[in-house]
Parts: sequence; C-alpha cells; structure tokens
Amino acid sequence: MTPSRGRLARDQCERDWIWDREVETESRDAAFARASAAWEKQYPYVAGHSGFYKEKFREAGVAASPVTLKDLHRIPFSTKQEMKQAIDARPPFGTNLCVPEQNVKRIYQTSGTTGAPSVLALTPADMESWTVIGTRTYFATGIHDHSSVLTTFGAGPFVAGHTHFVLGRIGTRSVPVAPGDTERVMFGLRSRLADTLLCTPSFAQYLANRNDAGPLSIDHIVTGGEPGGGIPAIRDHIQSVLHSTVTEVMGIGDLAPSLFGECPHQQGMHFSGGGHIWTELVDPETREPMTIEPGAEGELAYTHLTREAMPVVRFLGGDLVRIEGDTCDCGRTTFRMRVIGRRDDMFIVRGVNVYPSAILAVVGRFRPRVTGRARVVRTGDDVSVTPPVPIEVEVASGQSSDAALATAIEAAVHSALVFRAKVELVPEAAFGESGYKTRLTVKRP
Ligand SMILES: [Zn+2]
Repeated sequence: MTPSRGRLARDQCERDWIWDREVETESRDAAFARASAAWEKQYPYVAGHSGFYKEKFREAGVAASPVTLKDLHRIPFSTKQEMKQAIDARPPFGTNLCVPEQNVKRIYQTSGTTGAPSVLALTPADMESWTVIGTRTYFATGIHDHSSVLTTFGAGPFVAGHTHFVLGRIGTRSVPVAPGDTERVMFGLRSRLADTLLCTPSFAQYLANRNDAGPLSIDHIVTGGEPGGGIPAIRDHIQSVLHSTVTEVMGIGDLAPSLFGECPHQQGMHFSGGGHIWTELVDPETREPMTIEPGAEGELAYTHLTREAMPVVRFLGGDLVRIEGDTCDCGRTTFRMRVIGRRDDMFIVRGVNVYPSAILAVVGRFRPRVTGRARVVRTGDDVSVTPPVPIEVEVASGQSSDAALATAIEAAVHSALVFRAKVELVPEAAFGESGYKTRLTVKRP
C-alpha cells in the first residue's frame, strides 16, 4: 500500500502529517539562517561557560573573535573519548558543565558504547529541546494522537526513556512495558491495547520468529537502538510476518535520544533537529567536509545550537551514514539518511572496509533456520582481519545446527561480500537476550 503523502497506509485521520511544518519543510538557506542565528548566541555562551571548550578554542587559536557557523570548520572536532576525559577530569559532571549544578534537573547514566557509564546532565530547557526534536521524529514515523503505542524502552538508565515524554506531547495512548517482558508485549498486542510497537529490531525479529506469532498483527513497528529496521532483509521479514509497516528512528545519547525519524515512505530517516542541532558530513578518513547530497557517504558531526548544560561542538557521532535524499514525497525538506555502520564496528579485509550490518543482510536470507541475528568475533584490536572472518550466527530454536548450513552461509557471505568467513552456529538459548541491543561485534581473547 502506498502511503497517502506522509501517513501510514491504514491511517484515515485528517490532521497534518508534519508536526513542525515551518522547520521541517524550510529551504536549505532558511535552515542555515535559523541555525546561524542560534549559533551566534551559542558560541559566546560555550566559550564563556565550558572549561573544556574554552581550552579547546584557545588551543585552536579561535578564542579571540567569534566563529560563525560558516567558519565552523576552524574549530577542531570533539570525540566521545574527549567528552569522557572531560568528565573524568572533574567528576561527576566534568569540565563541560556550563550551568550551576543546582540547575541540572535530570541526569542519565548513558550506555556509553564502550567503557564505563558516562553522566549526561540536562536543564529544563534541554529536556524541552529533546521533547521538541523527539516529537518531530516520532510524528514523522506516522505516530499520531490516535495511535496506541506499546513501548519497551525503560524510563532509564538509557536516554531512550525520554520517549515517554515525547509520546505524551503527541498525545498518544501509551502502554509502557519493561524491556524483554515478552509476555506483556504479546498480551498488549493480542488484545489490541496497542496498535504500534516501539522496540529494537532484534526484539521485533524475535517476535516474528516465534512460532505462535502467526495470528499476531501490529499496524506499525518503530525500531530503534541499533541498525536493522532499515536493512531490507530484516525489515521485509518483520513486515510480512507481523503484517506491519516498519519505520526506524535513531538518536545519539550526547545529542538527542530521537534525532532521526523515518516517514512511511521508508526512504531513510529524516533529520529532525532543525534549529537545535547543526550537522556536518565529513569524510571518515580525511575528516574533510563533504556536501550533504544524495549518495554521499560519510560520518556526521553534530553541534548543539541551544543546549545549556553539556553542549558539544563538532562532535563525531561514530556512525557512518549514506545520504538518501533531501526531498521526499512526504513534503519534508530535511535530509534523509541510513546508517551503514558504526565506525567502531568497521574492519578491513584485504583492504576493503566491512560493516557487520552487511553480514546481517546476508544471514537474514537463511530464515527460518536462523533468527537473523549474527555477530563478528574480533580477537585483537587490529582493524585489519585476516580471513576467514569468525562469525557467530543464531539458530532458531527447534532448528538443527548442521555443517551444511554453516557452509551455505559461508558461501553466501563469500559471494556477496567477497571474503571468506568461518561460521559458528549458536543456539538461540546461548546467543544472549534479544530485548536490548545486540552487539554486532564481540571481542574474544
Ligand atoms: Zn519523508
């Protein structure tokens, strides 16, 4: 079914399908002017209040006169590691806290893809900007006030818990369930307490793979927390078994928990941070600026335009993305993108960059014998891997693990990705829980 402009196929409502039409449909020039005006205030604020950036701007020799948004490239990038060091230098909030501690009204201990949790502090205005951005994001996926949304994102410690405030702003019915509480999810969906499910793609796959999932039907599944909802082999399987439309969202802990949202046209996730966050696309190797245009592949760097408590400037998010377009049948003019993979997950086989998400797309073809989950085993810190590349593939319960299956997957990987793999089949019970994030790479000694 073709969506009617920006609406889900079965949505008959009359309301506008764009939450913030002024921002989400403005021209590129207007978006730049909006961001420039905000940055004119944000730059002196950051330079005057952040110990961390004061030092960084001084080292870069840009502290003397204001840096305009057009000249942002004069400021060096910030990395996750640097932000962690800023925390460690003066715990618990670090040297990048720009407000008095009593103004901090919410604190997350973020997942921190690597290492110990990091503290993330928010003022009331910061929380409001998260809600503004998140509301554009989830509304873009097709969630409206008439939606009834079962969410498996806990209130914390992960920032995805802010979604509860976003759903409140949209005015949906909310059915919160703890992550991994499969029975309550099944009951909630079977008895039509909810028509929409928010979960990780791993969990959606798990539901789709369950033998008793047959009669289950969910109008709309929004996946987040990890890639998968945008990988055709995974998406098509979930959609056909659960009779759903799957759209995906993505956020970055340090920036905003829901920063990109895919509309029902399913052509990549729209950027939703207009006016609050500025994005740049940079070459992942040389870090040279790239133009955000269809087909461009690079790493996104983010700058807060309004954040009070812990703002970042030119923060490298670590996700490699492909720009899918800057217009859309839904009418939004915000750029659309898909995640190719995490920079940290990338490895090199005989000079070719490989992302584990490409392996998922191949493994997914072997359903129903496999569940669709898989991970790469890395034995050292070296980014180059000598083939055969060890891959663990989850086998659905009730299916046998035989050598022929492993050989067939190895042949498919070789044919699609042109490197040799060594596949180990792991039973569902031993692979690890599907409720939260599935790591695409594991390190083993
Ligand atoms: Zn769209």
